[in-house]
Amino acid sequence: MKFADRLDGVTESATLRLNAMATQLKSQGIDVVNLTAGEPDANVLDPIKAAVEKALRENRSKYTPVPGIPDLRAAIAQKTNLQQPKIASPWTGKNVVVTNGGKQAIYNVIQAMVNPGDSVQFITPYWLSYPEMVKLAGGKPEALEPTDRKTFKLSPKELEEALHAKVKLFILNSPSNPAGVTYSLEEYQKLGEIFQKALDNGHDFYILSDEIYDRIVFTEAPFVSWLRACPGLQSRTITVNGLSKSSAMTGWRVGWSVASEEMIQVLSTLQGQQTSGISSLTQYAAVEALRLPDTDYQPMVQKFKDRQKLTLSILNKFKKMKWVSPEGAFYFFLDMSSYLKRGETAAPLAERLLSEAHVAVVPGEPFGAPNWIRISFALDERELVKGLEKMHQFLEGA
Ligand code: PLP
Repeated sequence: MKFADRLDGVTESATLRLNAMATQLKSQGIDVVNLTAGEPDANVLDPIKAAVEKALRENRSKYTPVPGIPDLRAAIAQKTNLQQPKIASPWTGKNVVVTNGGKQAIYNVIQAMVNPGDSVQFITPYWLSYPEMVKLAGGKPEALEPTDRKTFKLSPKELEEALHAKVKLFILNSPSNPAGVTYSLEEYQKLGEIFQKALDNGHDFYILSDEIYDRIVFTEAPFVSWLRACPGLQSRTITVNGLSKSSAMTGWRVGWSVASEEMIQVLSTLQGQQTSGISSLTQYAAVEALRLPDTDYQPMVQKFKDRQKLTLSILNKFKKMKWVSPEGAFYFFLDMSSYLKRGETAAPLAERLLSEAHVAVVPGEPFGAPNWIRISFALDERELVKGLEKMHQFLEGA
């Protein structure tokens, strides 16, 4: 069968595929430790569940406005304003479109902005959906490789050298998936100066800041939203966020874009011909999720902090393993180079790890780093320790 050309070269999500393989082995009774999870293992908080029950009882189940119900748009604007205190024009509900997860928010921004032939840049290792989404828009994905492999942070000089006139969109992601790379205020400000210089020189482009892991940071300093560091770039920035990771609501599919009213109108028109507004019931629950104080989410965040330390303590026992210490999100990105045979990437190693040691991990190729793997620590501590020890045994015979 011949499918549309636009699907040529677009790949299936490796995370979802490996998760499915691990689930299948488990269903055969094999004790698999699954380190592929891309979602918090915490349960949704009770008041959020109560809010969805209430909305259901009250029959609030009709179509909603495409960009979202007013209360939710206002709550998102308020949350974003708190994270971006220095922007010149505080956001209102009109600057918000609610989407089916952060994924649809990013997909639609790319669809709205990118013409065939336009370049979209992002930093390696990147969330694996960025290049595929760019390809679906006919654009050219360009991954920028930081030379600093210890932090995977792009330097201002590297950005300046890489940014060129065909770049229509630059995607930032902090804390990042897969390496937990988290930019500080000063680091973001320095990148911002380069972007500003390019804009001053007449280069017409936008910045998408993917802030989906905002709540899960391990740094002393609090999370830094891009527009907190660079408020002057407000009119050029689309902030993407959602409740998947921060409220452990992955299956509820709540994401959003915050941007200029002009941009939001275009994104709403696109969504109106595509999926319409997201589930009405979920939106009422989302208002509650945003109303809850940060302290309600602290137990989940604390667990991630503890597991990050636990993982680190076990990884330190590996003789040949290298990694980037995550400052946010819930993954470790591990350099497997010293365990690979000549010319081998980490993908066959990940398959052997699954079939022989029964530990599922995600190979780094779709994140732009073929010799690396991603492991998640969004799982029960005992399982996590078991998985890491099995890996140690498999890789180093320890
Ligand atoms: N951005 C990043 C960096 C992610 O890791 C994910 C999910 O894994 C998303 C966006 C999309 O999140 P959602 O589940 O809300 O669509």
